[in-house]
Amino acid sequence: MNTRIKDILKLTGNGQEMTVEGWIRTKRDSKSVCFMELTDGSSLKNLQIIVDKEKYELDKEIERISTGASVRIIGHLVPSPGKNQSVELQGSSIEILGDSPSDYPLQKKRHSFEFLREIAHLRPRTNTIAAVTRVRNALSYGIHTFFQENGFIYIHTPIISASDAEGAGEMFQVTTLDLDAPPKTDGKVDYTKDFFGKKANLTVSGQLEAEIYATALKNVYTFGPTFRAENSNTSRHLAEFWMVEPELAFCSLDGNMEMAEKFLKYILQYTLDTCGEDMEFFNKFIHKGILESLQHVIDTPFTHVSYTEAVKHLEKAGKNFEYPVSWGKDLQSEHEKYLTEEIFNGPVIVTDYPKEIKAFYMKLNSDNKTVRAMDILVPRLGEIIGGSERENDYGKLLNRIDELGLDKEDYWWYLDLRKYGSVPHSGFGLGFERLVQYVTGMQNIRDVIPFPRAVKTAEF
Ligand code: ATP
Ligand code: MN
Repeated sequence: MNTRIKDILKLTGNGQEMTVEGWIRTKRDSKSVCFMELTDGSSLKNLQIIVDKEKYELDKEIERISTGASVRIIGHLVPSPGKNQSVELQGSSIEILGDSPSDYPLQKKRHSFEFLREIAHLRPRTNTIAAVTRVRNALSYGIHTFFQENGFIYIHTPIISASDAEGAGEMFQVTTLDLDAPPKTDGKVDYTKDFFGKKANLTVSGQLEAEIYATALKNVYTFGPTFRAENSNTSRHLAEFWMVEPELAFCSLDGNMEMAEKFLKYILQYTLDTCGEDMEFFNKFIHKGILESLQHVIDTPFTHVSYTEAVKHLEKAGKNFEYPVSWGKDLQSEHEKYLTEEIFNGPVIVTDYPKEIKAFYMKLNSDNKTVRAMDILVPRLGEIIGGSERENDYGKLLNRIDELGLDKEDYWWYLDLRKYGSVPHSGFGLGFERLVQYVTGMQNIRDVIPFPRAVKTAEF
């Protein structure tokens, strides 16, 4: 039997023989007995290996073993007299698969996350990054499970986009042209000679394409990588990140908000249920009280408030914000936090923002000033989800495109969706790494994605 340590730790030790494989975390050696901690990444807890050196001839192997070495150990599982574990493995055979010389960088228990980013190829071998990785995995699975159980179809929206319609941020260009000598016409780069016959970029969002499928298959979602050439060094921005974007047809903003609340509560609960050990770790070592704050979001019905009302609340608060609030200005993170933490003491859904501060595709309200947008704000973070009902009226959408000086030729297919069998439809977006940060309490977004890409950062 060859099992994961996570499963072994759940067994009762009755002397059964088993083979375990993993990496050595620590070794404590004495004349007659040797203790080792073995991990295989399946759980935070290690398996304790104990070798009776008088009984087994393993001195040579034990001598060779050091932190980071990979081993295969055969032994008997027995109850542990120690207080940190219920079982331990009495090793009778050790095979060293890979030595780990003394310059192995992960010798001491704690390293700074900055240092670990420089050795991103080794950092998953640390407790914290391994725990983040398991929680990230659980959140992904929870997200798919939620949508699959609720009848949503998973759509793989394109990563390369030749559409000019997205425009949600700075884009990375994709080209096979010779950058030293691009073909030119009238002094301008001639993209008809480029790979796609026109300018192409990495996608910044899958929403517009998701709308295409929602207006055929009803409820769909995308969950994939998106790219933004964010030229800023923040702890919340990556150049490559993952986004979750459901799109619901025959659905107004109310249905959208209901689904978003249900979704958020589901995935948080799912993570608490499946990652208990890792979440305890985050609660203890990374962000005290995080379990309680997540439970609070799960247990609290979300408050609904319009942008206009929210601004009134903020103005009444008489607080000296870094950015002053007034109707028409976008809410900053400090305002969002104040609303959810101080005014409403729980998650808040803010709706009906001024059209000027929201995207062109959002459905215009009858006041002609606000749109059917909604942002979900949670304590500790501020905005976690942003969504809207989409404009489904051909004329109004065209109007908005004109008003903003956009070229309607670029939106011909998007407009078609409003021409043929147009339906009310809505959706929302969730930045996946922001979610992982929120759930784990990790400060820097670069520590919640395996291979962070950001300005001047793409080593691994
Ligand atoms: P922000 O104001 O934080 O830059 P945004 O308004 O540009 O966000 P949207 O265009 O609404 O973001 O994108 C949807 C979601 O994608 C955001 O709510 C956020 O969770 C996430 N997101 C946006 N930009 C990034 C980024 N550079 N890195 C990681 N996640 C991001
Ligand atoms: Mn941004």
